[in-house]
Formats: sequence, C-alpha cells, structure tokens
Amino acid sequence: MYTIGIDVGGTNIKIGLVHDGKVVQKQSIEALAHQGLLPRLKDIEDVIRNILSAQSVDIAKVSGIGMCVPGIVDSKGKKILVINDKFNDVVNMDLAQWAKSVFNLPLAIDNDARCALISEWQYGAGRDCDNLVMITLGTGIGTSALVEGRVMRGSHYVAGILGGHVILDRNGLMCNCGNRGCGEAQASTWNMDAIIRQQAAEVANWYSPAADFRLIFEKAAGDVYALKVRNHCLDIWTEVIVNMVYAYDPEKIVMAGGIMKSADVIIPYITEKIKTYGWALFDRIEIVRSSVTDDAALLSAEYFMKEMTS
Ligand SMILES: [Zn+2]
Repeated sequence: MYTIGIDVGGTNIKIGLVHDGKVVQKQSIEALAHQGLLPRLKDIEDVIRNILSAQSVDIAKVSGIGMCVPGIVDSKGKKILVINDKFNDVVNMDLAQWAKSVFNLPLAIDNDARCALISEWQYGAGRDCDNLVMITLGTGIGTSALVEGRVMRGSHYVAGILGGHVILDRNGLMCNCGNRGCGEAQASTWNMDAIIRQQAAEVANWYSPAADFRLIFEKAAGDVYALKVRNHCLDIWTEVIVNMVYAYDPEKIVMAGGIMKSADVIIPYITEKIKTYGWALFDRIEIVRSSVTDDAALLSAEYFMKEMTS
C-alpha cells in the first residue's frame, strides 16, 4: 500500500507519495501563508491527483493521508488546536472530513516535530531505539520524545514538543510565548538580533539584524564576538538537551536543522558539556545527526497509517 504525506510549513507545503519507507514522488507548493491554509486545500488536492496519475497509482492502493503541521494538534480528534496566526483559518476544522470527502481516505495529523521524530525512529538515525529525543534547531527549537517505544503526546498533546520553551533564565530574553528566558528565546534565529546584542554588546563588524547560525559559525573561526555568540548558543542547546534527558531518559538524541552542517563542531561540544553537567548516565547517551531530514515529515505518514490500523 501507498500513503500520502503532506508537510505544511510556513513557506512551503510539501506533498509526497510514500511507499515502503521511501518517497516515490513529491512536489512542493508555496504556502502563501498570509492567505491561510483553506485556499490551499484545493491545490493540495490537485497535486495529490497529479502525483497519483504520474505514478499510475490507483487511489484504492492508498491507505491514507498523513499531515504534519507546525502547531499543537489533537491527533485523536484530527484537529489543529494552536498554530501560527497565519493558518488560524483551519484551527478546530475537521480535516479528517476534508480527506474523507475529497479522497475517501482516513487522515492522520500531528505536530511536525513529532513527525520528524517518528521518521528518524522508523527509517533514520533513531532506528533500533525505544527511547529517543529529537531536537531541531532553526527559526525556533523543535523537540519531541519517544519513550519505551511510544510517541509521547500527553493530556494536552504537548508532551515532548515544548522543550524549546523550557525556561532556562527567568531574567532572560523575552520569548514569543510570553515567558522570559526560554531556550528558543535564548538561542534560535527568530531572536538572533536580541541574542547578538545581548552577547556581543560591542557589536562586531559582521553584525547584521538578519544574521543566522551559518554566519555566526562561519565567523566564529576568526572573530571573538562571533565565537562568544556561537558558544552561548551551544550552551543553551546543551541545557535544552539536558532538560529533555531528565524528562525522557533517551538512549539517543537526534539533532536536526540546517546548522547541523556544522555537526563536527556541535556534537563534540555538546557531548563534552553534558558529560560535565550531568550524571554518570550521560556517558551512555549518543548524540547523532538526523538522517532523513528532507523527507522526514512525508515519511511519517506511513507510520501513522500503521498506528491507526494497529
Ligand atoms: Zn517561550
């Protein structure tokens, strides 16, 4: 059987046909998020039909649709509970009804960080692990957790996914969630301008309000201010990871995000730090780079269908 994966992001929506742990064909369309998600459903529908037709796959051979969104999702009721303001038009909408009426297929829907974790667990760097934590670094900090072979969801569907909002410094930088000093306020790109100004007040010649991790890691090789910002971010990520370890006790931590191109700097730094901060058990926790990043969300669709029918 085949499954269809839909990965709703703030910039692009990816749609793919999945078979046996592989994305057979995929297509990306602009999210046009300022218009909301509802106007895109028809386009998503067209892309799905085009892909099925191009692959000569009959809809009867498709077991269902898995959708990943950057928000808090009631995965049982198939509803988005909280999402970026731009996609507010689909909050509480019955998306399962959409999939049923358009394709007569069942729908699974979940948070994108959780989808990434599922893919790493099923097909990637977390295979053979029953206890896994994933952390994705980028615009924000995405986290998710698998405990004893079960994806953590919790009573309000937030278990594991708010690791970026664990408060590390109550006097720290203001976060977009209303608290201060959350991991993602202290070390992610949406707040980079404030982070640089806090850490390197003697503003360096490479400074730009649009600076990102790539620039900072690049400049850190020869610039004391960039090195300070870089190490600050590495320390914050370490603290987030330590908190996730205390909460979920994983065998392995999978790290993802564009900046993991610098994994040769990040992984040894964090591994060394957590050995210093943590208990003896930290010696046994392996930190690895994600291995299915590009297609992670799409691949999770296949797992969701298995989960729904088991
Ligand atoms: Zn926060």
